[in-house]
Amino acid sequence: MRIGAHVDPVDPLAGAAARQADAVQFFLTDPQGYKTPQPRPDAEALRASDVEVYIHAPYIVNVATLNNRIRIPSRKLMMAHAKAAADLGAQGLIVHGGHVGGGADLDAGFANWRKAFQYAESDGGLPLPILIENTAGGDNAMARTFDHLARLWDAVGEFGAGFCLDTCHAHAGGEELLGIVDRVKSITGRIDLIHANDSKDGFDSGRDRHDNIGSGKIDPELVIAVIRAAGAPVIVETPGGADGQAADIALLRGRAGS
Ligand SMILES: [Zn+2]
Repeated sequence: MRIGAHVDPVDPLAGAAARQADAVQFFLTDPQGYKTPQPRPDAEALRASDVEVYIHAPYIVNVATLNNRIRIPSRKLMMAHAKAAADLGAQGLIVHGGHVGGGADLDAGFANWRKAFQYAESDGGLPLPILIENTAGGDNAMARTFDHLARLWDAVGEFGAGFCLDTCHAHAGGEELLGIVDRVKSITGRIDLIHANDSKDGFDSGRDRHDNIGSGKIDPELVIAVIRAAGAPVIVETPGGADGQAADIALLRGRAGS
């Protein structure tokens, strides 16, 4: 079982070593900005490493929005990050499901996701899988509740979209973790990556504050059960720096890997 962590982008392989991680996830640019990723001097080392690489798209990417001044740059940025991630030998690019905002038409958001994949096809095709991640909140979110997720998949499934299941986001977003892997797979047919995080906030709170495994509001047995059932690589996005994440990785590896 491959378990890793979200690490600082300055030296991801050192970050992996410090946590005894089999996989790393990092940002290529400021997650709050519209910067185009630049070539990295450690690209060859990352490609050659046994450590699996995942790239997380900036948080401001929202390909679903009806606001064209956000939507158009978002899909271009998603494609630029996909290409840059592929250059590093990454397994996938994680992109949040996004949202259309209060009062807006959900179907327009699902259609915009479809257009983002069509744009990628017209721009040479995606060089690696896009892993759409469920979110804890967002007004009229595309991938918070699984009834919306099912409608999203009707729009994008044919493009080979992948899925990243975040346990904190599911809990805070109001989806029970018990049996969740089967529920997701009945919609998406696949889970490519698990984000294993505890939540500082309660069920269906809509808040996105991660905590170390067993320190928050989620029964750690549920997180372990999700990991076992999914059989996918795991990334922790938990606090406490290298020590905090190393402890989470060791706990999950000890319990879920056996
Ligand atoms: Zn996540």
